[in-house]
Amino acid sequence: MELGLHGKVAMVAASSRGLGFGIARELSRAGALVSIGARTEADVFDAAETLAEETGNEVLANVLDAADPDSISQWMEKTSDAFGGVDLLVVNAGGPPAGDFDDFDDGDWQTAFELTLMSAIRMIRTVLPAMRTAGGGSILTITSCSAKEPIDFLLLSNVMRSGVTSLAKSLSQQLAPENIRVNNLMPGRIDTARIQSLDQMNAKAQGISTEKIKATIESDIPLGRYGTIEEFGRIGAFLLSDAANYITGQTLAIDGGSIKTVW
Ligand code: NAD
Repeated sequence: MELGLHGKVAMVAASSRGLGFGIARELSRAGALVSIGARTEADVFDAAETLAEETGNEVLANVLDAADPDSISQWMEKTSDAFGGVDLLVVNAGGPPAGDFDDFDDGDWQTAFELTLMSAIRMIRTVLPAMRTAGGGSILTITSCSAKEPIDFLLLSNVMRSGVTSLAKSLSQQLAPENIRVNNLMPGRIDTARIQSLDQMNAKAQGISTEKIKATIESDIPLGRYGTIEEFGRIGAFLLSDAANYITGQTLAIDGGSIKTVW
């Protein structure tokens, strides 16, 4: 299948590892010019080098703090200077901290709002002029199955990701006449460092091993296992690509069948 990604300029946020890295890798494999961004300088430069070596395509490394508006603008400027525009955007950031209602004060809510929801608004706002100039584009947000089925002890994530999911749907309607598609992926349990640390935290809280926690969660997933970064990356790259040109406004769960509702 021809994905039509060759030569496309893609900005992928929070991509020195994990889900963002997985999408960046598939885009780069398909010939896109990828601009990755993440907070830790050494990690993001290492990741860019790894990707460029593996795919033979140019990868631009950027220090990016998704919660900082100036950092988002600088990422856009650097990408545009290096690659001459932007066709594709992946909205992603680190997850907000775990906890319940009584654990959080106004400051915690505000920080989660900036990190998860405002970062999405700002990234999309920043790339739209370039996409409009190019006559179209494709945006993919990453949220979580928690947007559909709230997860215990992840209250900040549950609330903020519902906002991002809704933003993606609303914008897909508004931007479709301009040939700009907006879709959203909801990961369930993809085997990344973030999930490993959540498993360790739960194991500690329950006084059992991390392996036992993982096995218990896997037994509830119809496909019987966590997803891989590679599987997630392929789906992300497909939705961003021209091969998915007639898909917009969709939220897709990548969860091994965990969500039991019909819609
Ligand atoms: P991860 O910890 O493996 O990777 C996170 C990446 O984000 C790293 O590259 C890190 O440097 C970068 N990052 C963190 N904070 C950042 C910031 N403020 N600005 C820019 N970059 C930043 O995590 P992951 O599993 O890939 O998760 C990515 C997102 O998806 C998170 O928000 C996570 O909560 C969410 N999520 C993941 C899963 C899953 O199954 N892995 C499930 C539900 C939701």
